[in-house]
Amino acid sequence: MQNPQIRVRIAPSPTGNLHVGTARTALFNWLFARKNNGKFILRIEDTDLERSEEKYVQNIYDSLKAIGLNWDEGPDIGGEYAPYRQSERTEIYREYAQKLVESGHAYYCWCSTAELEAEKEIAQREKRDFVYSGRCKKFSREETEKYRQEGRTPVIRFSMPAKKLKFNDMVKGEIEFDTALTGDFVIMKSNNTPTYNFAVVVDDAEMKISHIIRGEDHISNTPRQILIYEALGLEIPQFAHLGMILAPDRSKLSKRHGATAVNEFIDQGYLPEAFVNFLALLGWSPPDGEEVKPLSEIITLFNIDKISSTPAVFEFDKLNWLNGTYIRNLPIENITQRARKYLEKSDLSAYSEKQLREIVEAVKNNLVKLSEIADSISYFFGEDVNIDDQIRETILKTEQSQQVLREFSGLAAELDYRDAEGINEKLGEFRKQMKPLKPKDVMWAVRASLTGRTHGADIAVVIKLLGKERTLRRVQNAITATV
Ligand code: GLU
Repeated sequence: MQNPQIRVRIAPSPTGNLHVGTARTALFNWLFARKNNGKFILRIEDTDLERSEEKYVQNIYDSLKAIGLNWDEGPDIGGEYAPYRQSERTEIYREYAQKLVESGHAYYCWCSTAELEAEKEIAQREKRDFVYSGRCKKFSREETEKYRQEGRTPVIRFSMPAKKLKFNDMVKGEIEFDTALTGDFVIMKSNNTPTYNFAVVVDDAEMKISHIIRGEDHISNTPRQILIYEALGLEIPQFAHLGMILAPDRSKLSKRHGATAVNEFIDQGYLPEAFVNFLALLGWSPPDGEEVKPLSEIITLFNIDKISSTPAVFEFDKLNWLNGTYIRNLPIENITQRARKYLEKSDLSAYSEKQLREIVEAVKNNLVKLSEIADSISYFFGEDVNIDDQIRETILKTEQSQQVLREFSGLAAELDYRDAEGINEKLGEFRKQMKPLKPKDVMWAVRASLTGRTHGADIAVVIKLLGKERTLRRVQNAITATV
């Protein structure tokens, strides 16, 4: 059903690379908009000029695009309610602040930092929370003029009505607040820029945002925002606060647990489509329980009423599992193409495109991240192979393995290297012939001599791609190096 009035937004501050938490919030907003034929808006909240940087704005654009989230209005593409950067909207905030002053909902506050500090100290001594006394609210015109003459620059404070406030959160249910515990808070700073709680209301109202879907760390801001809506006589949007994302140890997800920015995950070799699938599972579960779901399918199944109100745990194991699954399901041309980025150091000219695909096909089932490809195919390059001491000592040097390798070098001289299936059959016969040695031990010796590893790609494919010369050479090396 068409529902044209649904308008949601993501409003990141460009003070760092796009965090996974913000990306998850963006995704849920985006899904809600796409599911309901609504609009998804990107607004850049850059009022903190000191901490905001242009490179982070770019990172926000790039990261959202990388995971397939497009926006209908935003700083780069404009829209009916432009500008979409808070730093370009200062005049609008001033006008709204003025309205609030005129209607008696806000007032100029001339208190100096020292005066406020003194108030805070008294509160501390009396062992109560500091709530601004509101002394400037009662100033007469003359007193105000006196301060102005002194050269003080005022802030504008919102005059908090003391009342019990309730709102119905779409995720968390009914939430109640006592606003008496919140003092009159600053809405415009002395440098004439707005604070977050004020700018966000002005922008959401001006931009006709119908639903505010964001992290639950903003619940405590909501009463202040609702009161500003009320004071300005504006329609209050619906709120939906998402549970936080926690690390597997249930603490706040931070750098100490690994990557936290979207671009870091993508650079590490997580496929964007797997990563966005994973993000969707942080608070939402597919009705059929099948977790591997492309974004296109998630759009149709997504239902905001089904979002969990409890924190979601960022399970790196699950992300790895999902990513491996996506890699295995990718068409081989596609995965080979994407793998090239991670193979800059490998001499790809040694193989044709077709052979490279065969190599990728042979190792892809063992990959968790695409970046692992460089390491997992390294033995396909160069004449010889690196074998570490442990493999040499525990596998290659044993008398049993030496016997296997001597026999195998005879077989390797006769194989048809164009035919992996044929090689596979011959290896089957070889294993039988080597009885009573265990087939596993036989193959470990062969594999270790050729690849320096105990597991990996289909060994028949490895032999085929290494070719006769290198196969013989590596087996021979494993024999002579240990005698
Ligand atoms: N700039 C705020 C943030 O990044 C936006 C919060 C909101 O959605 O209201 O947390």
